[in-house]
Amino acid sequence: MDEPLFECPTCGDLLDVGYDWSRAVLPERLEGFEEKWSVVGDPLAFSGVWQYHELLPFAAPDHIITVGEGKTVFQQADRVAPYARMNRGRLFLQYEGMNPSGSFKDNGMTAAFTHAHLVGATRAICASTGNTSASVAMYSAVDGQIPAVVLVGSGKIAYGKLAQALDYGVRVVQVQGDFDTCMKRVKEVAKELRLYLMNSLNPFRLEGQKTIMYRIIEGLLWDVPDWVVVPGGNLGNSSAFGKAFRELKSLGLISRIPRMAVINAAGADTLYRIVNQEKITWNDGRVDDARIAAFYRQMESEHRRARTVASAIEINRPVNLKKCLRALAWTDGIVEKVGDQEILDAKAQVSRGGFGCEPASAASVAGVRKLRQAGTIGPDERVVCVLTGHPLKDPNITVAYHTRTDEELADTYAGYGVRGATFGNRPILVEDNLDEIIAAIQA
Ligand SMILES: *Cc1c(COP(=O)(O)O)cnc(C)c1O
Repeated sequence: MDEPLFECPTCGDLLDVGYDWSRAVLPERLEGFEEKWSVVGDPLAFSGVWQYHELLPFAAPDHIITVGEGKTVFQQADRVAPYARMNRGRLFLQYEGMNPSGSFKDNGMTAAFTHAHLVGATRAICASTGNTSASVAMYSAVDGQIPAVVLVGSGKIAYGKLAQALDYGVRVVQVQGDFDTCMKRVKEVAKELRLYLMNSLNPFRLEGQKTIMYRIIEGLLWDVPDWVVVPGGNLGNSSAFGKAFRELKSLGLISRIPRMAVINAAGADTLYRIVNQEKITWNDGRVDDARIAAFYRQMESEHRRARTVASAIEINRPVNLKKCLRALAWTDGIVEKVGDQEILDAKAQVSRGGFGCEPASAASVAGVRKLRQAGTIGPDERVVCVLTGHPLKDPNITVAYHTRTDEELADTYAGYGVRGATFGNRPILVEDNLDEIIAAIQA
């Protein structure tokens, strides 16, 4: 607890936060958390993360760093359901883009900053495809005591996310290379300069992210859904979700665990291959490390690089791979992959029926559509998609989708398998002329 140590010094695997639950003070039933709703003026009761403090009790209440994260929206998405091939009343969207920095990352970052203070950290660092840096930068700015450095790759970073890191005033270092390169370097730099590491290999991040599942259960009036569907990048969320349900079940606070579906982008499908092709499993903690190493060597020899328009999940070496395998075992989970065309179309559909999301988030809805077609998910099962990021994070791609012709779009995203905008909404260009404007409106 009092060291910023996230990997086992002996075996190199990630550490996990475990609690002595016999010392925890827990409500007898999840309904007990409703009491927090009526508390005004207590920052912990206001935070959608810390209102569940009893379920992540690693820090005393007066040490918690919170900005009021986790006040997110749970929506019964009847207007998106038909696209996902779900029956009315059966598809739900959990909008984590409604967090203060615009992505689910805030759920974890409040916990990581809390831990950083506990260990007396004076400076923080992260590698990021964008949202981690935005969230770290925001907490660093609000907190004012832990300056931060963020490493971003030289390739794709969505403009909204880069804008946040720059505006919040952290030091932004752009590295020639992709996210996987940054991830490797950030560990070396953190060690060398003794910086507190804010990436999701930090187990305290995952503790905060568990609360997304508590809020979903709360949204269903303390019932669990049949499926939770989440995009997979570094696999922090999926790992956290499995842990959340496992703990609730063992504490007797839920009676069954929902199944989890993790959705990869087809261009960044390490988890999909490891699970469905290599058939590597958690195997009660005895994961076949040698085969994973061989998989990565093969990937390297083929010069395979992650490549998807969903930049937040453009990751080929997910740091939480083993924890995710564990979560899949605990949730009877599955892994699917979807192409960039499906991602962009699903994103457009989410916006038409809801509040919108960024491309990576829409992989979840595209995944449900695919799993419905395959019959893996039934039309009357209760399915919750976690929409991880806000629609304004990546406006360029949305504007390109709606304004370019199919040929132009396919050309701009050559190599991504994008063919055109199935649900494009092109603006109509007219002269400054009343008749023309009226004609354009009436057309
Ligand atoms: C970070 C991120 C992801 C990936 O989440 P993991 O926990 O790394 O799998 C997905 N979507 C968005 C918008 C993100 O910012």
